[in-house]
Amino acid sequence: MNIYNRALKTVTPYVAGKPIEELARESGLSAKQIIKLASNENPLGPSPMAVRAIEKQLAGINRYPDSNYYELKKKVATKLNLGIESLVFGNGSDELIDCVIKGFSEPGNEVLSAKSTFLEYEIIAKVNNRKFKAIGLKRLRYDLDSIAKAITKKTRLVFIANPNNPTGTYVTKNEAEKFLKKIPSEVVVVFDEAYNEFVDTGSFPDTLKYVKNYNVIILRTFSKIYGLAGLRIGFAVTRPEFAEVLNTVRQPFNVNSLAAAAAQAAIDDYEFVKKTQELIWQEKEFLYKKFIEIGIKFIPSAANFILIEVAPSSEAFFAKMLKLGIIVRGMSAYGLKDYIRLTIGTHDENLAFLEGLKTIKEKK
Ligand code: PMP
Repeated sequence: MNIYNRALKTVTPYVAGKPIEELARESGLSAKQIIKLASNENPLGPSPMAVRAIEKQLAGINRYPDSNYYELKKKVATKLNLGIESLVFGNGSDELIDCVIKGFSEPGNEVLSAKSTFLEYEIIAKVNNRKFKAIGLKRLRYDLDSIAKAITKKTRLVFIANPNNPTGTYVTKNEAEKFLKKIPSEVVVVFDEAYNEFVDTGSFPDTLKYVKNYNVIILRTFSKIYGLAGLRIGFAVTRPEFAEVLNTVRQPFNVNSLAAAAAQAAIDDYEFVKKTQELIWQEKEFLYKKFIEIGIKFIPSAANFILIEVAPSSEAFFAKMLKLGIIVRGMSAYGLKDYIRLTIGTHDENLAFLEGLKTIKEKK
């Protein structure tokens, strides 16, 4: 007799970026001495407008949130130029991945995605007793031709992280459109666009345009550009019938009222978004230049993080960085054992990382 879900035997639990407090406890360093460049968070902090909205909302936390999130929906719908019935909010886009899998597939069905992509697709699919099939990346990019060929009668969902975490590479408009034309009518394609606001290239697909004519769900988040990772709020954009499915699956009060108020304010904080974009784009160029000077191999990224080659062992490199009080992310769990993923920080944080890199290279 099994007391637990046997599917869990094949699941490796998600390991998040190491928390600052944990390293402080283990190392004796103070939290202020530690630099975390491991979870693709916003180095500028949260949107100031979101912080003010939370302060205002605090006195109302005796009440349940509006389970339809009407005001928030109206704000986001206006910004994206779509109807409110196309939106569903979640406790981070993580929760929406679970809702999508529960709403659009059954036990035994297949969920398709790539190897070396966001690990939650596989974990959540398997926990829900779905089969997970991962297609290898091609030159560290999603190989949509091979993914389309791998679709079987059992396939119900395809997850595409765009830009991809952890590689920072992206699927172009042409590739996405060619792919959608090949997809059978019982398959839903999810474009997970957690890093969409950091993209500055014209060939990136405007997926909002696909919602009407294809089985497409887009996932976005307030965790990255808006700096609200700790609050847990993301959303799905899809056609109204699909949104209804997600609304049936989700818990009625899945987003807390502080998160909803913060997101509603943050969406109007254009100044903060612009400031964050400018910092990330400027620092990305700075880091690329330095990596070329030092002779470090990296993968050009469309997001706010960079995959860097540190062969022979990313975990050894991670440990050496930790000793210097710098938290990055080793990539062996993603099948990329020669790489680490660096979240782009403030200029001072990036300088500290480069200094650490030099120290590690000299000690070799
Ligand atoms: N999708 C991708 C591709 C991500 O990288 C992340 C965050 N690491 C998420 C989804 C989850 O984000 P959220 O904080 O909204 O749950």
